[in-house]
Amino acid sequence: MSLTVLMNAGPWLSVPPPGYGGIENVIATLVPELRRLGVRVVLASVAASTLPADERFHVFDDGQFPALQRPYNQVCGVSQAHLGGVARLLRTRDDIDLVHDHVEAVGLATLAAMGPDAPPVLHTLHWDLAKHPELYGNLDGGDRLRVNGVSAAQLARAPRALREHSVGHVYLATPLAVGAAGRRPVGKGDHLVTLGRIYPGKGQDLAARIARTVGVPLVLAGPVGPYHRPEDLAAAGEEARQNPDVRFFYDEVAPHIDGDLVRWVGTVAGRERDDLVAGARAALFPLRWEEPGGTAVVEALALGTPVVATARGCLPELVEHGRTGLLADAEEELADLVLAAGLLDAAECRREAAARFTPAVMAEHYVGLYDAVRRLAAARHPQAA
Ligand code: UDP
Repeated sequence: MSLTVLMNAGPWLSVPPPGYGGIENVIATLVPELRRLGVRVVLASVAASTLPADERFHVFDDGQFPALQRPYNQVCGVSQAHLGGVARLLRTRDDIDLVHDHVEAVGLATLAAMGPDAPPVLHTLHWDLAKHPELYGNLDGGDRLRVNGVSAAQLARAPRALREHSVGHVYLATPLAVGAAGRRPVGKGDHLVTLGRIYPGKGQDLAARIARTVGVPLVLAGPVGPYHRPEDLAAAGEEARQNPDVRFFYDEVAPHIDGDLVRWVGTVAGRERDDLVAGARAALFPLRWEEPGGTAVVEALALGTPVVATARGCLPELVEHGRTGLLADAEEELADLVLAAGLLDAAECRREAAARFTPAVMAEHYVGLYDAVRRLAAARHPQAA
């Protein structure tokens, strides 16, 4: 029996994303595999999305990510408008078997509130679950709405009401893991790389300090707030400082950037990103938050680059200390680990990614969860079967 899934990617970025975009990358990875398995996918995104799907739905033409820099009271209507459109669509259709939702907070709230007016729902939690305690702590999705996490450590932090809706966790995948075990090794440079949006939790300031302590070059890649290129940030002037991530960059990271030992290259994409990561001695993640899913961690392994990180959030689940990376309990240990990372085997990292983090592994896991969510809904509401 074929299954029709409404994949709700939300209004923030197109799918696949133009560069940075963790959730949109996951969706761009998942949808082709689901379709290969015979699932029909209705993609609810923005019109600019180019990912092939069986049907598309949008409210906005383009990704609304830049609007996220505006104050909450000016931006909260964006995701509500998108979800309003999705809710209206669901009310007019009886051929959608399940909604797989990825929209932070408002996706969960709207679909829970729709009750039997929506098909069964699986909402993937991509975030630190210490966020939104009011919503997560009081969630009631009845028998029709379930959630999944992206690591066991992430779900362990969830409030009880949210955990009671959980059907488990699914690790994030990357297309780079396909064939990774057999890929020819690339020549390693001496540099470290820290990939991800510039954000205190991701610890780019610590990365820069470690690089300077050990005298190893560091490349920081990723956007600062909405600014993808150093020249865009510079052109934005003082006004850009309203954004907390811009302030963090200027106050804590930029003082270490000398354009030589420590560089910020802005957002990198495609081949440039892959070469930067594959050629690195290690991917450094000096986290000071509980990283929920770690797309960039999985990508580093797939590219044969060992991970050096603080043992927080999902890191101990993704990385095996001493085999595919080195994990520290305290940030003071990271400098020594960076120096030791060169002893780890790149092929072992690629093999690990090829076994655990391929799109096919992720999609099969999700199809199993779709089935579980529908069965749980049908047990109480036989007409929903
Ligand atoms: N990314 C990218 N270019 C950059 C920085 C990040 O393509 O310059 C991608 C990265 O490869 C990953 C995603 O953006 O796929 C970030 O995901 P991650 O889970 O690391 O961060 P978060 O979603 O928490 O921002």
